[in-house]
Amino acid sequence: MTTEYDLIVIGAGAIGENVADRAVQGGLSAVLVEAELVGGECSYWACMPSKALLRPGEALRSAQHIEGSKEAVTGELDAQAVLKRRDSFASNWDDSGQVEWVKGAGIDLVRGHATFTGVKEVEVKAADGSVTRLHARHAVTVSTGSVSLLPDIPGLADAQPWTSREATSAKSVPARLVIIGGGVVAAEMATAYASLGSVVTMLSRGKLLAKEEEFAGLMVTESLRALGVDVRVGESATEVRRDDDGIVHTTLPDGTVLESEELLVAAGRLPRTGDLGLEAIGLTPNQWLDTDDTLLVLGDDGKPLDGEWLYATGDVNHRVLLTHQGKYQARACGDVIAARATGQPVSDAPWGRHVATADHEAVPQVTFTDPPVASVGLTAAAAEKAGYRTKVVDYEIGNVAGASVHTDGYTGKARMVVDEDRKVVLGVTFVGPDVQELLTSATMAVVGGIPLDRLWHVVPAYPTISEVWLRLLETYGRDDSA
Ligand SMILES: Cc1cc2nc3c(=O)[nH]c(=O)nc-3n(C[C@H](O)[C@H](O)[C@H](O)COP(=O)(O)OP(=O)(O)OC[C@H]3O[C@@H](n4cnc5c(N)ncnc54)[C@H](O)[C@@H]3O)c2cc1C
Repeated sequence: MTTEYDLIVIGAGAIGENVADRAVQGGLSAVLVEAELVGGECSYWACMPSKALLRPGEALRSAQHIEGSKEAVTGELDAQAVLKRRDSFASNWDDSGQVEWVKGAGIDLVRGHATFTGVKEVEVKAADGSVTRLHARHAVTVSTGSVSLLPDIPGLADAQPWTSREATSAKSVPARLVIIGGGVVAAEMATAYASLGSVVTMLSRGKLLAKEEEFAGLMVTESLRALGVDVRVGESATEVRRDDDGIVHTTLPDGTVLESEELLVAAGRLPRTGDLGLEAIGLTPNQWLDTDDTLLVLGDDGKPLDGEWLYATGDVNHRVLLTHQGKYQARACGDVIAARATGQPVSDAPWGRHVATADHEAVPQVTFTDPPVASVGLTAAAAEKAGYRTKVVDYEIGNVAGASVHTDGYTGKARMVVDEDRKVVLGVTFVGPDVQELLTSATMAVVGGIPLDRLWHVVPAYPTISEVWLRLLETYGRDDSA
């Protein structure tokens, strides 16, 4: 027997849940199919547990940097208490709360592994071997996420390395941890485990946080070193082996061997599309699913599939691998599926309700290192490469009164990239304690295309770190001709 729904969503991570929710709010029936835990990577093995691991160290160091407070906090982190608190943020890897939410939202849930058997046809195999057949009247959305990439290093796969899953759900703190990678996950986990007492070595082929402004990666490299992390830039592993005692031996190109209790690989992500039966609908397995801005999947010819029925949201479409941006896509996707199914007008011009325009040049991202890096829009280099005529304005955040009150000896840096032709902000990067809370203001400036002369009238409260906005504008110079 086949059950029919207006919409089938494969993958009940944060993104799939939101697609289904919006479609149901738009008057459609929807079913979510989930092979593991409802809530996906972000809830159990990514955003939530990683930030729960990071926050206690940040809070401790924050107090240690304020005269009067530092005298009161002289101990180390309690690693077991940190791990216990992390467990609660990962809901103890129990998804019953999220299942309740799905039910309450009027969405059906089928547990099991989904594969396509044809156009709008999906088969779900449950753990007990039973099979459920689903047919979509209007659309199927793939929200199956991504998995860790294991680089092709001899011996690596057999050495049972940690991926982000093991790093975020570990039950104890390894005495020594080697990390392969220099991106966001590598830098965050190096911060977390160094704070928890591991001796951490990072092997990064290139500079850290290479997609950010260069100064951000350099400041994070310096701060990791200050935390005791051995950051080796331009370094890679040539061979990995775990011996019978469980010790991992990582060989470097010069023959040096690093020994550690665990090895974390944080070297990128791969699409989770290898076992979806994509060949049954004319697509190639193991590839990212390219989409247009309404999240319709594009075939090899660059056009939506016949009948415009297949969508992809979240990591699997490779537009932006971040939860908040995937959820933004999900809102557009669920809404546009409902609009198309019910004959409502579709708002698909740039910045319309049914498109994920912000994915292109206005993505906010925080790297929760210590200090954190918060950025949105284009870096100076990316703006130049895109052909903009730019002016770059830098400011030392520590010179702002609010920052100096916040932390003794506050050091941080802000950069604003201005489009000189339109006099609007193309990108902003902040590095410094608690700058993540400035990011939405920067995102509003970028998305809103607010002219600098109008931003001049946005008065930051005194004394707050957000006064850095005023300093950036002053440094840029007011255009009095306007
Ligand atoms: C360590 C780490 C920290 C991160 N921290 C942050 C952060 O702080 N902020 C942020 O914005 N982003 C963060 N991210 C990124 C974020 O986790 C992802 O962007 C987000 O989880 C993607 O959500 P998704 O719904 O697309 O995929 P997922 O969350 O992976 O969900 C996909 C779901 O699909 C299911 N599935 C897959 N195939 C099938 C199938 N065939 N049948 C049925 N079900 C299937 C899976 O079981 C899974 O539950 C982090 C990532 C990592 C690795």
